[in-house]
Amino acid sequence: MGTPSTTAVIPAAGSGERLGAEGAKALVELAGRPMLEWSLRAFAAAPGVRAAVVAAPPGELDRFSALAADQDALEVHVVAGGASRSESVAAALDPVQTDVVAVHDAARPLVTPELISALIEKLEGRPDAAGVIVGAPIADTVKRAREPRGASGEVARGGPTIAKTESRDHLWLAQTPQVFRTASLLEALAASPQRVAEATDDAWLVEKQGGKVLIHPGPPDNLKVTTPFDLRVAALLLSERGDV
Ligand code: C5P
Repeated sequence: MGTPSTTAVIPAAGSGERLGAEGAKALVELAGRPMLEWSLRAFAAAPGVRAAVVAAPPGELDRFSALAADQDALEVHVVAGGASRSESVAAALDPVQTDVVAVHDAARPLVTPELISALIEKLEGRPDAAGVIVGAPIADTVKRAREPRGASGEVARGGPTIAKTESRDHLWLAQTPQVFRTASLLEALAASPQRVAEATDDAWLVEKQGGKVLIHPGPPDNLKVTTPFDLRVAALLLSERGDV
């Protein structure tokens, strides 16, 4: 069994607002390079990855194209992203020609070639599965509150109140990369525009279509950069790896 030919699909059209940066988060400097470049380097070093398609903010295509042209080890295409993450993924899938895709958020710059390969190989060995995603086990005790949180995390006055303690045994945090058979992901993205706009990951869309999606337990450092604190931690971890 050879490694299947895979295209990296990288949604990178989000803004750097929560990082306090103007413009795209994916171009914020991290340990001496634009954040996106760390992911592109990991995909370039993963066996079987043929190309990458990056979904960029529509107003910043020139800056992203310049970065793409700079990558010697990987063919990188840039497309205009959409209004939501999944719409950006759908746009980036358009030019894909391989049977397998690895969707990866530009906001997770600590991804490694080893992790990417492990996911691709796991999917190849499971013809019954439509996809394999990275999952992190939950270490903290999980409480369900009576009141929902607001969109920006704001909580009810005097609360929230615990309604229930959830068992952790079956719970995982969904991360990226998420590797899929291209046909399964295309079918899931075509299902319902409203569902696509609401989705926070691609596995959910494939699950909703009845596709079996496997979890690959990930390393503890595959963190997502959302706040300035995350950026500092990511820079520290990358410098410890000796990759800087
Ligand atoms: O906002 P959040 O960090 O959850 O975004 C996850 C990933 O999706 C990021 O890499 C971001 O650039 C990307 N994204 C996108 N298009 C959007 C919104 C987010 O490509 N419209």
